[in-house]
Amino acid sequence: MSILVVGSVAFDSVETPFGKVDEVLGGSGTYFSTSASFFTEVNLVAVVGEDFPEEHMQFLRSRNVNLAGVQSAPGKTFRWKGRYGYDLNEAHTLDTQLNVFETFMPELPAGFEECEYVFLANIDPELQIKVLNQVRKPAMVACDTMNFWIEGKREALLKTLRLVDTLLINEGEVRQLAGEANLVKAARSILAMGPKTLVVKRGEYGVLMFTEHSTFAAPAYPLESVYDPTGAGDTFAGGFIGYLAATRNHSEANIRKAIVFGSVMASFTVEDFSLNRLKQLELPEIEERFRKVKLLTEFEGIA
Ligand code: AMP
Repeated sequence: MSILVVGSVAFDSVETPFGKVDEVLGGSGTYFSTSASFFTEVNLVAVVGEDFPEEHMQFLRSRNVNLAGVQSAPGKTFRWKGRYGYDLNEAHTLDTQLNVFETFMPELPAGFEECEYVFLANIDPELQIKVLNQVRKPAMVACDTMNFWIEGKREALLKTLRLVDTLLINEGEVRQLAGEANLVKAARSILAMGPKTLVVKRGEYGVLMFTEHSTFAAPAYPLESVYDPTGAGDTFAGGFIGYLAATRNHSEANIRKAIVFGSVMASFTVEDFSLNRLKQLELPEIEERFRKVKLLTEFEGIA
């Protein structure tokens, strides 16, 4: 089953303790699409400026991402500049230039409105709603957001949250959105805002999933070399929703498996800057790492 995603396609400039890159391919829509493309067909809705090179479009096409919903507009592509300290779990945004996203009017090309799996990646919540309103009968709608929108567009974001099944955000954003320091209490108050499932991304500490009746924890794969966490969240979402869309099974057991696929995908992204590692990735490596994560958490019960 194919996925519809709306998100940013960007030029990122990133500094980590291990290196620095300028104006490399990034964006929430880009990371998500590339990751999900390992599992199923992806239809991307986004906008790029006149400065966006054909080479990047070619890469996404080579991953079988349908770009019919990517508009090319006069002006510059979205740009994000961020820095990470030794605590790679938190990005410090240095600059955000919306550029062509300021006037973007998303319109779904024919066929996109039939997609049953929808991911509203990190982007202006007003654009998220505009896209969702054009989809006919989704089986699952998930969304992401960040501090930039929690602070700047809270009302629109709350409206989006009333319409989604699953929210995926990081730990700091959970506390900020709920106005509550305790993660469990914060999760409960976010579930009351609309989503039935909340997935909390905790960087190197893994992922926690909350529903009304259950909590699930998955570790992050322990890596010896982490270069750049940018895009880990979107790559996680790509693996998570990609697997669910490919299997069309929303049982608790399958959702847990999807969470682990998400973590596995994210573990590859952070091994290099931009999408460099994902560009080299092969399916058997994903399966092998999935098996290793399973072993990592296996233990016996008590009598
Ligand atoms: P993450 O997966 O959370 O690390 O997301 C990183 C990606 O989000 C980067 O490639 C950025 O281009 C993109 N990004 C950063 N800020 C924004 C924003 N305000 N709106 C949309 N995308 C953004």
